[in-house]
Amino acid sequence: MTEKVLIIGSGPAGLTAATYAARADLQPLLIEGFESGGQLMITTDVENYPGFPDGIMGPELMEHFRKQAERFETRIISSDVSRVDLSERPFSVWVDQDLYTTESVIISTGASARWLGIPGEDRLRGFGVSACATCDGFFFRDRELAVVGGGDSAMEEALFLTKFATKVTLIHRRDEFRASKIMVNRVMAHDKIDVLWDTVAEEVLGDDGVSGLRLRNVVTDEESEFPVHGLFVAIGHTPNASIFEGHLELDNDGYVVTPPGTTRTSVPGVFAAGDVVDKVYRQAVTAAGMGCQAAIDAERWLHDQQD
Ligand code: NAP
Repeated sequence: MTEKVLIIGSGPAGLTAATYAARADLQPLLIEGFESGGQLMITTDVENYPGFPDGIMGPELMEHFRKQAERFETRIISSDVSRVDLSERPFSVWVDQDLYTTESVIISTGASARWLGIPGEDRLRGFGVSACATCDGFFFRDRELAVVGGGDSAMEEALFLTKFATKVTLIHRRDEFRASKIMVNRVMAHDKIDVLWDTVAEEVLGDDGVSGLRLRNVVTDEESEFPVHGLFVAIGHTPNASIFEGHLELDNDGYVVTPPGTTRTSVPGVFAAGDVVDKVYRQAVTAAGMGCQAAIDAERWLHDQQD
């Protein structure tokens, strides 16, 4: 059976696309990926998603998205897509050995955390190095921690970690944060959080756990060792688009290219929405909005093919 719409990814963009496509009677098949629900699954309080005036936890919000998509009979496969062929229609999408064919595709594979790429980081990942305070913060009760980054994620991680840590040091490579004012104000007012400005981490130290960081002040070039028990890296994200390389136009940073105002990609019948496209807004609500657009674009495109 050839699907009408196959959606890849299950964050706010994919699940919103599924709800819209299902309500348009397109019986979408959604391949949700092993990291289902996307980045909100590792987010604590979401205070800015409209409709939740008291805030909501990220995983709970995604549960609502999923239930809504399932209510209209979206079929969900809980695996990663391993390969695609978008060179002819119907398009081919493989989940391991299983082949799915489809008239249209909506790509909503999101983005993943970036790492610093410094010595010790990889070796100690899971042993004191993490990119997810919500997942791992609990293990650092009464410990001293460092967070690298200067955006909203870094502020959020640092604030969350104060629940467990005795002290959190934010390490930022410039002398100014890029995070929103409200988050910066909360961080600066917090008595457990210190900031090291103009500083980069050059090595994670420790044998079977993190014992410290080798730091360098980028203004004075002075090096130092900084004792901490854990390092949380919060320096942004990379789009999850590598399986589309060679099949679709991607930009220099690896994001799927869509012309402004549409979710069309370089291949007619393939649409993209959410963080895999968007390096500017990257919000749950904008991803959901784009997911809606992608479903409407797909529906209209499918309709035009019948004429
Ligand atoms: P971001 O805004 O891109 O910030 C990344 C931070 O990491 C920047 O401060 C950057 O420094 C620093 N950085 C990047 N590469 C680095 C490296 N190799 N070494 C050291 N530092 C490095 O990413 P984000 O914080 O993940 O936020 C992404 C988007 O999600 C933003 O639009 C943000 O507003 C949104 N967000 C919102 C919330 C919320 O509202 N609650 C929470 C999380 C995220 P420079 O500043 O020097 O470039």
